[in-house]
Amino acid sequence: MKEEQTNTIDRAERPISPDYDPWDPIRSLRDYGRHVLTSVELTVTNLCNMRCEHCAVGDSLVLKEPEQLPLPLILKALDEVEHLQTISITGGEPTFRRQTVEEKIIPLLKYAKARGIRSQINSNLTLDYERYEKLLPYLDVMHISFNYTSERDFHEVGFARSGHPVKPEVAYKMYDTMVENTRRLSEAGMFISAESMINYRTHRKLPDIHRMIVEMGCQRHEVHPMYAADFAEGLPVLELSEMRAAIHSLLDERDPALWMLFGTLPFFACNGVEEDLQLLRRLWKEPNVTVRNDPDGRNRVNVNMFTGEVYVTDFAAIPAFGNVREGRLDEIFGLWVTEHPLNQKVNCHCDAAGCCGPNLLVADMYYPGTEFKTRKAATL
Ligand code: SF4
Repeated sequence: MKEEQTNTIDRAERPISPDYDPWDPIRSLRDYGRHVLTSVELTVTNLCNMRCEHCAVGDSLVLKEPEQLPLPLILKALDEVEHLQTISITGGEPTFRRQTVEEKIIPLLKYAKARGIRSQINSNLTLDYERYEKLLPYLDVMHISFNYTSERDFHEVGFARSGHPVKPEVAYKMYDTMVENTRRLSEAGMFISAESMINYRTHRKLPDIHRMIVEMGCQRHEVHPMYAADFAEGLPVLELSEMRAAIHSLLDERDPALWMLFGTLPFFACNGVEEDLQLLRRLWKEPNVTVRNDPDGRNRVNVNMFTGEVYVTDFAAIPAFGNVREGRLDEIFGLWVTEHPLNQKVNCHCDAAGCCGPNLLVADMYYPGTEFKTRKAATL
């Protein structure tokens, strides 16, 4: 059996855990000695029943949407990705229409399972249980956003951009459904990864948010800084010192039995800032804590299932740089890696620090004008 086939079988059977996160681009970078496309994110809808204050795809959300490209075309595009290891399905709320669940999501998940690759869906879990239950046999990771300590937070945050008032009772009911769905699906064996963002609202409440995530039975708590994109563009930006303090407070009070995954952090071993090094060392040492490098543009692209356009991320902040109707994803990705000026700004790599550069949006937010490629990590 060829080595590539053996690896595929190993990977398909290996449980996702702090020791094995197939979305982290440092893995494929180490395996292949260069960035290769191992992950494809698919935007299956721009419809959503919420309008969150911080939504990074908010400007793309619509009330009615056109026909999608035929699914066989998308499956062919995935089939051509030689080293594909993961897919992520995103929106809007991917399950907003039952038809999307039946005709797009389930076939995509079945494809992933048959090929031995891992799958994730980004959902708000506020709709009826049955549409999520259908995904149980196929899905590897159900990713939800959880930034609340009560239904009041949910009402305030989740409908801030509705354009019309949403009654508290309506929001509270959706909140209860989300919590109940999370509990039931977790009990039924679904791996639910709840993501909290660190922003001006949450940074002092993260330990309380964490406790609720533990109580709901989630398998992982993800923490990322808020991306200042789309709806979030005008929101107050936290100081780096506040973000550091928020992470320390969370590490102080977290349940050590729950896997915590930090991603797109704005702290780098090349900063020359002692507080950053202390934090990174702590994150490295803590059991059940991982720091994921940013997949966007490193080992992943986003494909819009309506237009076929290929983006570095589902956020519309960076324009498309190809289309699956006109080229193979591996080739489009290859051109991004080698030629795109935006990628040239951040495609650094310090292997000893386990780092392959900052997220573009986070770099713009906290390090405008910094030449990361001329920097080198300090010893961690
Ligand atoms: S890879 Fe880039 S961002 Fe990371 S430590 Fe090295 S120079 Fe800094």
